[in-house]
Order: sequence, then C-alpha cells, then structure tokens
Amino acid sequence: MATLEIKDLHGSVLTEEGAKPILKGVNLTIDSGQIHAIMGPNGSGKSTLAYALAGHPKYQIDSGSVLLDGEDVLEMTVDERARAGLFLAMQYPVEVPGVSMSNFLRTAATAVRGEAPQVRHWVKEVKTAMSDLDIETSFSERSVNEGFSGGEKKRHEILQLDLLNPKFAVLDETDSGLDVDALRVVSDGVNKFKDKGDKGVLLITHYTRILKHITPDRVHVFSDGKVVESGGAELADELESTGYVRFTGKKEAAA
Ligand code: ADP
Ligand code: MG
Ligand code: MG
Repeated sequence: MATLEIKDLHGSVLTEEGAKPILKGVNLTIDSGQIHAIMGPNGSGKSTLAYALAGHPKYQIDSGSVLLDGEDVLEMTVDERARAGLFLAMQYPVEVPGVSMSNFLRTAATAVRGEAPQVRHWVKEVKTAMSDLDIETSFSERSVNEGFSGGEKKRHEILQLDLLNPKFAVLDETDSGLDVDALRVVSDGVNKFKDKGDKGVLLITHYTRILKHITPDRVHVFSDGKVVESGGAELADELESTGYVRFTGKKEAAA
C-alpha cells in the first residue's frame, strides 16, 4: 500500500501584482486502493491545489508538506514526481505541434521508467492500450493535443494514465463540464485504473455528475483554499441536492 499525504499546505499563485495566497492549509491523506473526490465551488482553489502538486512554476508553496510514502514530493522535480509514481495530468504540455502522440507517450514513459521502452514492445503496448480504451489507431500518429476535441483530450489523458501506470493519479476535471462522451471516457478509464489494484485517485470536480459513474471512497468539500468537510459518497449526494451553501455561506449561481 502507498500513501499520499498533504499536510497543512499553504500556497500562492504568482501574478503580475505579486503572490496571491490561495491554499490556506490543505490537509488530506489518500491511501492507494481508494478514490477520493474533491468538490468545491468555482474559485475555491481546487485547480491551484492540482498545479501546486504538479510543481507548476506559476504556483509557489508557502508552507506545509506533501509526502508520497514519506518522501518529500515538493523537493522533487516534475520528472522525479512522475518516477515516484505520481500522475498529474497537467504536468504534460497542452499542445505540441509536430510531435506525434506515439513519440510523446514514449518520452513520458521513458521519464517514468528511467529507460526508453524498446520500440517494438512500445508499439504493441500502445496498440493494446488504445484498443482497450476504444481509441482509433490513427490517433497515435496525430500531433499532441493539436486540434483535439474535449473528448479526445480526455482520451489522451486516460491513455497516459494507462501506459504510465502510476501509483496515484490527480485528475482535475475542469469546471467547463465534459460532454457525455468525455464523461464516459474518464469514468471508464478511472474505474479501469482503480481495478488494476492498489491505485489511488484524487478526482477534483465541480459537479457531482461524474460521481454517478465513479463511486468515491471519500468526498472532501473544498472551500476558500482548504478542505472544510470530509465524508463518504453520501456527501456528494448532499451537495447534489443542496449545493455548497452550507459550507461557504454563499449561494452559488446555478450552473
Ligand atoms: P477552482 O479550480 O476551485 O475553480 P482555482 O484554483 O482555479 O479555483 O482559482 C482559485 C483562485 O485563484 C481564484 O480566485 C482565481 O481567480 C485565482 N487564480 C488562479 N489562477 C490565477 C492566475 N493565474 N492569476 C490570478 N489569479 C489566479
Ligand atoms: Mg475554476
Ligand atoms: Mg478548477
């Protein structure tokens, strides 16, 4: 079993006006074998948490710690985080013209495994993963994320998850909302990942919709830069019916 531990994490986003504190003491422990959902209103700092974990240069850690099996994640480079078994979707570039998916994924796998997979084995591995995920074969020859639809970006993310086979995955489901196709890709992919056994998932989401397809072991409500309440899957049902008002004191505009 592996454990990802976030302790009293404070962090800021770096803007032109200076550092703006967003994370205000995040505490969260995830054991492998579990899916944890973080839910919270827009602007509460959910994506900031994901970027901070990914080591994004626009975000700064002010205090606190992140430990993966006791190892200090915040001291690690982005590649070291990946090698340690942490998958952070946004550590990968958004669009890479001229680099095929197949080459891009091989580079990512090389970073994680510490050596380049043999080309012949790699081609087979990618083919199998793509067919398991119902991705058409032409996908591997396309440039990374170039002209990808929302659903295709999600397929790419889930394909990475499958091939890189981390211990922990942090997935930030953007607030813009996934279409039905993308929702199915993500939920099937996450469930399949979990079924490999001993995998931890931190699923960040604004809407309860995806939790109809993925049953979380724990649900955390995020408000104003920290976890303000934790519970079981039933907490998501409560959020579905009453929204975040009980936790924030503010009524949210209907989405
Ligand atoms: P969420 O994902 O919960 O919607 P975010 O982490 O995206 O929240 O944003 C948290 C807060 O940080 C918001 O008030 C947002 O305006 C601010 N913020 C995030 N990124 C930036 C940025 N690059 N520049 C300025 N403010 C930012
Ligand atoms: Mg947002
Ligand atoms: Mg967000």
